[in-house]
Amino acid sequence: MDGASRPALSGARFERHSPFDGALVGVFADGGEEDAERAVEIARREFDTGTWPRSPSRRRYEVLTEAARLLTANADAVAERMVLESGKPLALALGEVGAAARCLEYYGGLALSVEGSAINERNPGALGLILREPIGVAAFITAWNFPLLGVVCKLAPALAAGCAVVAKPSHLCPGPALLLARYLSEAGLPDGVFNVVTSQRERGAVVGQHFASSRKVDKIAFTGSTAGGQAVMRAAAVNTKRVTLELGGKSANIVFPDAPLDDAARTAIGAFTFNSGQQCSAGSRLLLHRDIHDEFLAMLTEHAAAQVLGDPRDRGTTMGPLISAQQHERVLGYVGIGHAEAKLVTGGGVPADPALRGGYFVEPTVFAEVNNSSRLAQEEIFGPVLSVISFETEQEAVALANDSAYGLAGGVWTNSMDTALRVAKGVRTGKMFVNCYNTAGIDDMPHGGYKDSGTGREFGQAGLEEFQELKTVQILLR
Ligand code: NAD
Repeated sequence: MDGASRPALSGARFERHSPFDGALVGVFADGGEEDAERAVEIARREFDTGTWPRSPSRRRYEVLTEAARLLTANADAVAERMVLESGKPLALALGEVGAAARCLEYYGGLALSVEGSAINERNPGALGLILREPIGVAAFITAWNFPLLGVVCKLAPALAAGCAVVAKPSHLCPGPALLLARYLSEAGLPDGVFNVVTSQRERGAVVGQHFASSRKVDKIAFTGSTAGGQAVMRAAAVNTKRVTLELGGKSANIVFPDAPLDDAARTAIGAFTFNSGQQCSAGSRLLLHRDIHDEFLAMLTEHAAAQVLGDPRDRGTTMGPLISAQQHERVLGYVGIGHAEAKLVTGGGVPADPALRGGYFVEPTVFAEVNNSSRLAQEEIFGPVLSVISFETEQEAVALANDSAYGLAGGVWTNSMDTALRVAKGVRTGKMFVNCYNTAGIDDMPHGGYKDSGTGREFGQAGLEEFQELKTVQILLR
């Protein structure tokens, strides 16, 4: 905060223990409302009177790209912190650091091309200017599942726009955001432009609510559960704050008989096991055409067996533990519902390997014959549990995909471009994948949800515009 690492004003601290083996992996300042207020006042000071919002865009480009360079140079240290606190496997953590560095570079580049426009045709005796201004003080409240990228995808566009920022990372993995603050400082970001408040669980919601309800904050960007997002949105109404919400999902991955089936099956496993299923865009519902149903289930079982559950510090591990005891219990509760209501295809519990007993592991679990209106198919589980639902017609598949309160992502697998595009357009979500899931290797596409999955977009040009206001100036020529 304000360019230095500081204790909480109360002096309180909290501990983080590894979800893999329970070891103590970090001790952090346990900030409360008074720390939140201090952070907001510092950011307000910097926005109203500091140099950053008034800096030339080349300066912003230089700081953001230098921060990207420092992050890359320290990738191992940042990834290690993430692995220890969150249990994310090392390979995934390194991937996240790389994506975060590219995001900083992208918005550094975009800072150079921010421009407005002018209108001089409508009235020959006048000139109209359309300007883009930074939105002001932005507050971030973020989740633990992408503890670095989830902050960077907000921070990079906010800084490129010229905002000052306060941030509250999740108590379950606060370390990466603190390292990011250090590298930005080393890269030349003025003190007080990026301020992080860490807090343990209960005080975290208090700090988040303080940001959301503060009249000194102009914009709030939240990543987390739909219930948390709605609480933030209500509080933000106090000064009609601009709000971005990146919330949950229950995305449908749809497979037609003419798809490349083996590829589709391998990817379908990755779609719900990536980060042990703890990802908002997880393909957690698999819609299978009746004609390939049984054959595809056999392929899923085979590919699920290739997942390596293990110590997240090992490079070969593909699935680490879940984030906490609470989440472990919750996910196993859904597995229990699956056993009672659906047909188990593979997995179905905690792994037998005694080496994994100390961690919050759940096997990759597939249930078939799931009813789309059941809790298993409607609620976000946030663990490695897949619900398989069969369909006969394209219309039925689209209707099933849309029969959800969420609208974040989805996939469609087919060799017919017509089918792919009709389905991609028919499913009401913020992003769709054709013959792939989660990525086709294209960075910087806007990400965000329809319906209960949120509002606003992150990444891409749209992500920058979330941190800008449009101003018009009309000039009468004399
Ligand atoms: P969460 O809602 O419990 O917490 C998210 C953050 O909000 C934390 O920092 C927490 O301290 C804070 N918070 C919680 N309650 C609050 C309140 N009432 N007021 C203000 N702040 C509050 O979510 P989580 O368990 O950390 O993350 C998992 C959720 O995040 C999942 O639902 C997942 O889908 C979602 N998520 C969405 C995206 C996306 O881009 N759409 C990305 C990652 C995660």
